[in-house]
Amino acid sequence: MHDFKYVGRTLYCEGVTVESLVKKFGTPLYVYSEKTLTDHFNKLDQALAPMEHLICYAIKANSNLAVLRTLGRAGSGFDVVSEGELRRVIAAGGDPGKCVFAGVGKTEDEIRFALKQGIYSFNVESEAELHRIDRVAGKLRKQAPVAVRVNPNVDAGTHAKITTGTYENKFGIAFEEIEALYARAAKLKNIRLRGLQTHIGSQLTDVKPFEKAVTKLVPLVVRLAEKYGLEFFSIGGGLGIVYQPALASGAETWWNQPEAKGILNPALYAQRLLPLLKPVSHLRLLLEPGRFIAGNAGILVTRVEYVKRTGKKNFVIVDAAMNDLIRPAFYDSYHEIVPLNKRGGKLISSDVVGPICESGDYFAKDRPLPKVGEGDHLALLSAGAYGFVMASNYNTRPTPAEVLVQGKRAALVRKRQTFEELWSGETVPTWLK
Ligand SMILES: *Cc1c(COP(=O)(O)O)cnc(C)c1O
Repeated sequence: MHDFKYVGRTLYCEGVTVESLVKKFGTPLYVYSEKTLTDHFNKLDQALAPMEHLICYAIKANSNLAVLRTLGRAGSGFDVVSEGELRRVIAAGGDPGKCVFAGVGKTEDEIRFALKQGIYSFNVESEAELHRIDRVAGKLRKQAPVAVRVNPNVDAGTHAKITTGTYENKFGIAFEEIEALYARAAKLKNIRLRGLQTHIGSQLTDVKPFEKAVTKLVPLVVRLAEKYGLEFFSIGGGLGIVYQPALASGAETWWNQPEAKGILNPALYAQRLLPLLKPVSHLRLLLEPGRFIAGNAGILVTRVEYVKRTGKKNFVIVDAAMNDLIRPAFYDSYHEIVPLNKRGGKLISSDVVGPICESGDYFAKDRPLPKVGEGDHLALLSAGAYGFVMASNYNTRPTPAEVLVQGKRAALVRKRQTFEELWSGETVPTWLK
């Protein structure tokens, strides 16, 4: 998170004070750094340079059109999981020919749309889906490019809700069944076997599970590539990021460290995986990172409304809530929280909570924070991935605005929802009128 930093006591995003964005756009407010987005993309791209590759940014992490445009310009392809996401990529000027379509539940309509747009590949998750794609492609007189997602049964050692590469979960086809499936798929007239895909989980901070999966899969890819003329091997996404200062060593502002020690970073990732991928270096390597690119490129800014002391606790009640950022409630995740104006003084153990009527509506518990009061602003860091995209209107709260910063410039890239928009699709039936 190199482009959110204090200059003196003031928090900046690139060349702009976050305070000035709050004045202009209000809160709750998502702020993204364009430079951080491209830096993350370029770092990964450069680390993988020794091998022919395509990075397909997983847009479910953050699908704002401005974010997609930024990454498309940097040369990124896209990993989409719905027709809506594919339409977003197109709306942002992205190339469908650089898109892979993932997900266990693709409908016929979605498959038809993706085929017409000429996507690079479907990442197929079941044999039934393979037959459906074959049928839809036949009707359109097209050849459907596919890669089957193999489940290598490797434990990514991450949170249960984001582990995907073991036989406990719904994703992919078991390792032992893949070769027989490719043999059957090769007989389907409208299917073109183009690659093999895997994705073992999200927020991996250790390279070992990746090494295990790649080591296990490479001999299989060699055999399948030879037999069926595969073009690519996709090793999915899942690269984790630093959320918590305790993971970094000795830095005052941990997120300004170029690379926190011991944490997975592009150089380490490439250094350990590229040698293992040598036997398939004649293929194109695909990567589908989401969080790694967007996570630390965004913050959520919120206003302190009340500070409430009960017998036991100090509650800091803010104007953002779980409907704006659900990660703490959903995954027990940690977000660093800092004031826009750095201050000294004693730290107070605080619970930072939103106004929603749920005990799950909190951002931090027993967190040492500087003393804040009504009207102060706080930034929740590392909120660029799985933040806005998971926002809802629970408690009839409009979704927040999003701003993109580039150098000294800032642009509103999504306006705050209005109240009228919240119920604009609703009608009262005639018999109630
Ligand atoms: C979610 C997902 C990704 C991206 O995961 P990150 O942890 O954000 O990198 C990539 N590929 C597939 C198939 C996914 O489901």
